[in-house]
Amino acid sequence: MEPVSDFDLDDDEFAESAIDLLPTVEGPMEIVADAGTRRLHEPDVGQRPGPRSLSPSSASVYRTCPRRWKFRYVDNLADPPGEAALAGTFAHRVLEVLMQLPGAERSIDQAKVLARQLWPETEHDPDFQALELDDDKGRQFRWRAWKAIEGLWRLEDPSQVNVDATEAKVSVDLGGVPFRGIVDRVDRGPDGALVVADYKSGRAPSERFAESRLEQVLLYAAAVQAERGEMPRLARLLYLAQRTIEVEVTIDRLATVVGDLGETHRSLTADMEAESFDPTPGPLCGWCPYADRCPEGLREVESRYDSGRIRVDAPALVHLINPVTPPAAGGGEPVATAQAAPSTATR
Ligand code: SF4
Repeated sequence: MEPVSDFDLDDDEFAESAIDLLPTVEGPMEIVADAGTRRLHEPDVGQRPGPRSLSPSSASVYRTCPRRWKFRYVDNLADPPGEAALAGTFAHRVLEVLMQLPGAERSIDQAKVLARQLWPETEHDPDFQALELDDDKGRQFRWRAWKAIEGLWRLEDPSQVNVDATEAKVSVDLGGVPFRGIVDRVDRGPDGALVVADYKSGRAPSERFAESRLEQVLLYAAAVQAERGEMPRLARLLYLAQRTIEVEVTIDRLATVVGDLGETHRSLTADMEAESFDPTPGPLCGWCPYADRCPEGLREVESRYDSGRIRVDAPALVHLINPVTPPAAGGGEPVATAQAAPSTATR
């Protein structure tokens, strides 16, 4: 059976995603993708084809499946966060406020106080209310979020961290691509050098996938470097309650991730000009919120279900209940009727 990818169950970057299509950004400096070089450059902020900006999360959605990107960012269809993502958002929020306090005040007890104070933000969030959690499930949700918050102390002593910025918005031109993002934390290490850090509340990747996960935080490092003119020394992922993954920031590494971002941007721009977004059916179709609009994805879900290669709690299985009607070309109107999810994958 295919494992569920962290793509769906990893922590959210919804705030970041929401700004992807805002007006074109300006940044004081451009990092060019050519290895070993960097130059000051007033970016061209005139009319450009393609998306107005890219964030790591939207680039990731496109690379995973261009069709899914189109549903989300062109058609503006909802992609409501799941329970795990919302718990991660709440944990992020508590840690954000905690790390803005003076070091001596960053205790677990203080985190509990903040969690209680900040809980109403999540409790009244329409996405949270849409989960319709009963009392037991609500307690489990808060417990899950708390374990992530408390999990920071397994990775570091927050009172000793020299925090330079939290939730730092970056908007720069990276290799010709308008890039936006929100960096969870920018620290100063013991040597005074910048450390760009991002919290993760999803599963930590195996060694094999660790490097690819660092791409996001390396892009943030490139953005911080572009905005401040100061090269961070480390890019770090803090997998709460699990482990830290980090890498030294080098010009070559930045050039690689900026070059990859440029490739994604070029491909995306070509798709937008052609108004054609190919689907990439795969294991994630079972968790795609647009599966009912995507005949290729539904076929993938059905095939995986028939061969026992999909988890029985995959939300898209609900669309197999009803016969599929002839699809709209290129994806569009729903091809199956959504119903309440079955408790098991029977049909
Ligand atoms: S169902 Fe699969 S192929 Fe279709 S849009 Fe979603 S991820 Fe892409």
